Amino acid sequence: MNDLLKGLNPAQREAVTTVDGPILTLAGPGSGKTRALTHRIAYLVEQHHIAPWRILAVTFTNKAAREMKLRLENMLPDGQVHRLNVGTFHSLCARWLRREVETLGYYGSNFVIYDDSDQESMVKRALRELDLDEKRWRPGAIQRVISSAKNEMITPDKFQARTYQEEITARVYNRYQELLVENNALDFDDLLLVTHLLFRRHPDVLERYQEQFMQVMVDEFQDTNMVQYDLVKMLAGKHGNLFAVGDLDQGIFSWRGADYRNVLQFQKDYPQHKIIRLSQNYRSTDTIVSAAKQIIRKNKQRIDNDLFTERGIGPKIQVVESYDAEEEAAFVVTEIKRLNLSEQISPGKMAVMYRTNAQSRLLEEAFINRGMAYLLVRGTRFYDRKEIKDALAYLRLLYNPQDSVSLNRVISVPPRGIGAKTMGDLDRWAFEQRISPGLALFKLISEPLGQSPFNGRSAKSLIDFATLLNLLMSAKETLNLVEFFDLLMARTNYKTFINDKTEEGEERWENLMELRRAMLRFGNSPTQEVLGQFLEEVALVADADALKEDEANATALLTLHTAKGLEFPVVFLVGMEEGLFPHSRSTESTESMEEERRLAYVGVTRAKDRLYLTRAFRRQKGYSGFAEPTDPSRFLSDISPDLLENGNYRTSKIAPTMVKPVARWDKTPSPAATTLSYKTGDKVRHATFGDGTVITAKLDGGQEYAQIAFAGHGIKNLAVSIAKLERR
Ligand code: ATP
Ligand code: MG
Repeated sequence: MNDLLKGLNPAQREAVTTVDGPILTLAGPGSGKTRALTHRIAYLVEQHHIAPWRILAVTFTNKAAREMKLRLENMLPDGQVHRLNVGTFHSLCARWLRREVETLGYYGSNFVIYDDSDQESMVKRALRELDLDEKRWRPGAIQRVISSAKNEMITPDKFQARTYQEEITARVYNRYQELLVENNALDFDDLLLVTHLLFRRHPDVLERYQEQFMQVMVDEFQDTNMVQYDLVKMLAGKHGNLFAVGDLDQGIFSWRGADYRNVLQFQKDYPQHKIIRLSQNYRSTDTIVSAAKQIIRKNKQRIDNDLFTERGIGPKIQVVESYDAEEEAAFVVTEIKRLNLSEQISPGKMAVMYRTNAQSRLLEEAFINRGMAYLLVRGTRFYDRKEIKDALAYLRLLYNPQDSVSLNRVISVPPRGIGAKTMGDLDRWAFEQRISPGLALFKLISEPLGQSPFNGRSAKSLIDFATLLNLLMSAKETLNLVEFFDLLMARTNYKTFINDKTEEGEERWENLMELRRAMLRFGNSPTQEVLGQFLEEVALVADADALKEDEANATALLTLHTAKGLEFPVVFLVGMEEGLFPHSRSTESTESMEEERRLAYVGVTRAKDRLYLTRAFRRQKGYSGFAEPTDPSRFLSDISPDLLENGNYRTSKIAPTMVKPVARWDKTPSPAATTLSYKTGDKVRHATFGDGTVITAKLDGGQEYAQIAFAGHGIKNLAVSIAKLERR
């Protein structure tokens, strides 16, 4: 018992040993909230002999749940830890529903859980069945409305439509929900909502759980949404022992329906609650805590706290600026290697964090290229994303038309009127002729239709698709890979299909642009010659799973949102640029800018000892494939110079000639270029890269950019006014 309380300060001890009634602990990052919660579980079992299965502890991620159980394993008698109910809301609800859902009468206990892309196909099916055009009524947007409705516990029957758009959404929502039930499927939001419904409709079921859970504990309480709050309230309804910990400055999920007002609601719902405050940060050095405070201080809607640390000043923060994102990634990996070799810090003790998922590709590649292990925490790896898989399936099919897996993947993506029946007929017809469905498809355009089983609409849809493939096949001879990819995206209407102008849609499109950038280095070789090589390289990256095995030695790559609650001795926050972090979308309102700032606060406070903040002077954005100059993130200038190494920013190894003109202290723009000074084939010399040949030159926003192949350095995109090229 002593051991349990020994590593705790008096306030934490109070939190751990107060067993009865509602308790709220609001405190800053690293102040030991999660630690208190974990110790409290052990204390209840050991001291108060509460059976582990009567304790419920909700964490925010599965990783956090795993870590908590790992700690408890050492604190509890053998085998007890498995009897605890520790997990995320979603995983706990899924478990309860497996046991109880049949009580509702319309789901079977073998229900399936639909992920995002399954959900999307369901929305589409609903649209089709209702005869609504999915070009007009964006499935992604509808999906999002449905999701937020569910987070606010608005079921289809309660969905109030005020506009025509909402009227349509209501109809789709209704049908979508019926389809889920018909498929015996629950989407992610349903896991919570259906549990809620079950508890409300069947008080006897709820009573069993209320009786069971003598203690209910919630970590990261500031990020609970309405349904989650209600579930907690219901479950703690009998014993009234609710222990919630959180930090309002770390609320970063309002875009998913999280509502910090739940903290206020808690205080209203439980007037007799006890508040415990923690102010010592045990995680980070003074330098890191101070920097974090300087960043969060700028938020208006907050209550100041008195967070302090006694861990000492520690190393200064390094702000490192690189020429472009490739070099930023290279710097990060090289630095990790250096820290490992010269300071014996294991790569597993370091983490790289970024604002958007798309940023992971270059980082992953940098790790792979240098043979360093990395671990992508949650989230799908770049090449596993739906849009990337779709695009690659097209490319594979066009590389090898006999690849029927790829054909199956793309034949209805985007939908083109080829239904399951037609697909089945095509398969059968191909089978009869002992050829692949892909080849059978091509026969439709080269041979008289009469010999095929198709007619009318299905024949037309198939012929249209075969014609499209045929056109693309022949384009392989003449177009380079990037041009070929653009043609593919344009002719298949994939962009309109994937990018519904919502946040997710934009991100999907951005991911595809990332894939396109990976093609740039194949230069002007015809697609025919390089497609095989490109696909092989991609496949190797996707197979890098083996690296995952040695988790302790692999550097974690994760988005800032998934970094919540975690800590690492060394943290790299990359892409510290205006428009990326803070994200361009957040400039729309004060609220979202404040949330962005909280995200920066979360990121900085993940570091124990060393913090690197990196940015690239130029980053490729959108479609052009050419890097555009960036501005440093406002969060960088919030940190006072005395906390930074050398009081300033340093540049990674790159050639100074390329850095200076776009550096932050040089705001004079070069005069706008109106004509091209280079053309394809021109021979040039560059200070760092040596001799090169111009592949293309183009004007973009008053700047001339040249794509140049350098012997031994590959292809670079350079802004002519900056690169100081010499003609040879
Ligand atoms: P966050 O808000 O980021 O989730 P937190 O408040 O949950 O942070 P913890 O993760 O519980 O903080 O603790 C931060 C670190 O400090 C952990 O490594 C933990 O073991 C350590 N720690 C917490 N309390 C103490 C203590 N009293 N003595 C020594 N170390 C402590
Ligand atoms: Mg925590």
